[in-house]
Amino acid sequence: MRELNILFDKNAEWVANRVAKDPEYFIRTSRDQIPLYLWIGCSDSRVPANEIIGLEPGELFVHRNVANLFPHTDFNCLSVLEFAVALLKIKHVIVCGHYGCGGVKAAMEDHQLGLVDNWLRNIRDVYTHSKEELEAITNQNARFDRLVELNVYQQVMNICHTTIVQSAWSIRQPLSIHGWVYNLETGKLKDLNCCFSGVEQIENIYRIKVP
Ligand SMILES: [Zn+2]
Repeated sequence: MRELNILFDKNAEWVANRVAKDPEYFIRTSRDQIPLYLWIGCSDSRVPANEIIGLEPGELFVHRNVANLFPHTDFNCLSVLEFAVALLKIKHVIVCGHYGCGGVKAAMEDHQLGLVDNWLRNIRDVYTHSKEELEAITNQNARFDRLVELNVYQQVMNICHTTIVQSAWSIRQPLSIHGWVYNLETGKLKDLNCCFSGVEQIENIYRIKVP
């Protein structure tokens, strides 16, 4: 595919720049990864995880899907989380949504898109849980923004409720789960101030004693 050659050219250029700045770069980074953070973000091409928080390769473990969901039965999400927490011993999980998210918008509308509608059902559940609050917001854009935030919050909770996170907390492994939203128009992050670092912060019904 000749039209993709440009990507190989860009790759060669990137390698040359890296090596020029740091001749040992690939030798060192190929040995190991020691990221401190796990990023659960949207697949949207305008929200590149490493770039917006200025982290280098090796510093951020990343999982992205449409609308930054963490369904509690999704084995892809669960496997990423377990690997990050139990093996890499990351200290922070960040769920980062973004305003203007096409996935969240689609979940507010009734057009059928395909398989993704079943994935986005999770957001319709978030909407249903907070229907009163959302429908009290008369401005459509403000309601959309709020659903983006509530969706992040729900995914943070889903992560806290996993046996993976609760197992880590039970052995006093330092681990915090955070919810953020990225603003496409300004490039800035907003902290939703929902930081969870221990089992005492979650509802009783979701607490699972480690055997
Ligand atoms: Zn999105």
